[in-house]
Amino acid sequence: QNTATKPIRCKAAVCKVAGQPLEMEEVEVAPPRAHEVRIKILCTSLCHTDVTFWRLKGFPPRHPSILGHEAAGVVESVGDHVHEVAVGDTVVPVFLAQCGDCPDCLSDRSNICSGLPAGRPGMPRDGTTRFSFAATGEPINNFLGVSSFTEYTVVDVAHVVRLDPGVPPEKACLLSCGVSTGIGAAWKVAAVEPGSSVAVFGLGAVGLAVAQGCRMRGAKRIIGVDLNPEKRDIGKRLGITDFINPNDIGERTVSEVVKEMTGGGADYCFECIGSTSVMAEAFQSSRKGWGKTVVLGVSNGVAPMSIPSHDILMGRSVVGSLFGGLKPKADIPILAQKYVDKELELDEFVTHEMGFNDINAAFDLLTQGKCLRCIIWMDGARENGSVGVENGRACNAKARLTSLSYRD
Ligand code: NAD
Ligand code: ZN
Repeated sequence: QNTATKPIRCKAAVCKVAGQPLEMEEVEVAPPRAHEVRIKILCTSLCHTDVTFWRLKGFPPRHPSILGHEAAGVVESVGDHVHEVAVGDTVVPVFLAQCGDCPDCLSDRSNICSGLPAGRPGMPRDGTTRFSFAATGEPINNFLGVSSFTEYTVVDVAHVVRLDPGVPPEKACLLSCGVSTGIGAAWKVAAVEPGSSVAVFGLGAVGLAVAQGCRMRGAKRIIGVDLNPEKRDIGKRLGITDFINPNDIGERTVSEVVKEMTGGGADYCFECIGSTSVMAEAFQSSRKGWGKTVVLGVSNGVAPMSIPSHDILMGRSVVGSLFGGLKPKADIPILAQKYVDKELELDEFVTHEMGFNDINAAFDLLTQGKCLRCIIWMDGARENGSVGVENGRACNAKARLTSLSYRD
């Protein structure tokens, strides 16, 4: 029964060709090396960043690869020098590392860990993969340091966050990327003040989490912008006060409408789409003097974002953020506790659930704008309910969300 030091054969959804459906394969997952953790995935979900990289062609070749980076699971085994988590712990893997020792991790001003060796992006610290095809031994690339579209994955301990096992896996999963990113952007990056006006561009899970975060911070006016009219109702439930569909405003630009609604521009604008033209439009929607635009969307190329320098001189600023400025190990447990205390809404974000074999349907739903987050359950995990309770180690997440902002 002790699998700790042995390779595990399991099922994985492999991306072989950019933009083509994932293929279910038997893969071999090597045991964790030093500083690594092997995780049994319970559930995973699809974020738009997976879709962006799934479509991406280019050199060096990224595929075959195992995509996926929003997930929750249980520690199956650990490598040498791993003391932070133990077998049986409930964990979420996170694409952003937190080594805890580098200048970035030690600073309140950054969450961009610089402590792991800068090797091949997304791969383990020694640059090699833990995945191969069981039939041929051919290696399979990791993705974003996580790779969760597999029954087992190996993740650097710097990318692992231990959670209270009382948080259901499908809710913990949401905290491993999209929802945390949006909430964090409102709290830590913008540090939205009560009474503020806000414009959120793109009402997917990230944008809707921004709206929720802004509402929690006491924003007075939260304008949601989306081409999909169905985002209006869900947006209202999560905090938006006004909705703009760019298709319904005739000759006017969105920034003109936002300026009209806010008397000169929003205090805070958030781009949650990944379009450089929308980033520029978000910037133009921000108020002169102090308007701040937070870019969260991941665009699939190197296209520059174009802003007239004069408009920057007018006191506006733009800042980009990964993971909403959150430090994963410190802040995810706080958000999880907020969920347990019913102060953070997560249930609305789960619009669909399906089995692992149907994973390609999740791509269809997300790209067609029909879902927010689709929870993809590994075989048997859903029936078993909240797993990891046998371990029962709770983690300390007593801090309040109001103490989240390190700019206060
Ligand atoms: P999503 O596909 O669920 O949502 C995107 C929304 O934008 C959809 O509602 C869509 O209708 C809308 N949209 C698309 N084009 C538009 C346009 N031109 N004008 C108005 N609305 C438009 O995506 P998501 O999972 O919420 O992710 C959003 C973005 O955030 C993606 O770019 C993703 O890669 C990125 N992301 C970034 C981070 C980070 O750390 N910075 C983390 C997670 C996701
Ligand atoms: Zn993501």
